[in-house]
Amino acid sequence: MDELNGKLALVTGASRGIGRAAALALARAGADLVVHYRARAEAAREVDAAVRALGRRSLLVQADVARAAEIERLAREAGPVDILVNNAGIAKPQPVEAITEADWDQVVDTNLKSCFLLTQALLPGMRARRWGRIINLSSVAAQVGGVVGPHYAASKAGMHGLTHFYASHLAREGITVNAIAPALIETEMVTSNIKATPDRIPVGRFGTVDETAEVIVMLARNAYITGQTINVNGGWYLS
Ligand code: NDP
Repeated sequence: MDELNGKLALVTGASRGIGRAAALALARAGADLVVHYRARAEAAREVDAAVRALGRRSLLVQADVARAAEIERLAREAGPVDILVNNAGIAKPQPVEAITEADWDQVVDTNLKSCFLLTQALLPGMRARRWGRIINLSSVAAQVGGVVGPHYAASKAGMHGLTHFYASHLAREGITVNAIAPALIETEMVTSNIKATPDRIPVGRFGTVDETAEVIVMLARNAYITGQTINVNGGWYLS
């Protein structure tokens, strides 16, 4: 399992949850890593060390993806990224009447605008090398509404439009762009939301971060899947 040897992968939000599992799975598949995080430096350092222990190179970069200037710095420090996993995100479960414009901006900037800005920053390098993989972590919320709120659902649905545009625009340039729409993967995002319960899932349990990470690795390897949304959702939404 080494066909990603020599490729550089940037996983945003790699300090924990799905991002952590994705970073480790990509490293096991041969990639070098940029391990990005926002606040949890200690957890991110542990992921960085685990990647190195697998024999890959790893660079740790802190940045708040809700801030354009920090994304610019992240892209600069990361270097020639071949595989971009837009994973960092927040859910803000709130009573619908309580959601303000500031909440909307925070969720949409963090989940969607960051994905656009980081893609724009790293795309010129991928185009020059005529090889790239962009993998966007959207959500079942884009398809069914979900259990967080309209700001979250809209931010994730926006990722699908962005995925479709870039995929069709870049199809002849060796760059694939896909989305993964998970549902109720057992991470802090899910365990901290009282509305996220396993009985919503047809298979009857939460998914695991490794079940999501293996799809991320599959999309990183595959050159013929582009413009798709892969649902890792225990059968909640059927496409
Ligand atoms: P977690 O809440 O477990 O982890 C979130 C990660 O994003 C952390 O690494 C965190 O960094 C980082 N992050 C959050 N805000 C920012 C920010 N402003 N700037 C930079 N980094 C930030 O999430 P999950 O692993 O559960 O989710 C990963 C992705 O998958 C998200 O986009 C989420 O919306 C999506 N998803 C998850 C589902 C699930 O069931 N778990 C379902 C559907 C979609 P730090 O640790 O430093 O705070």
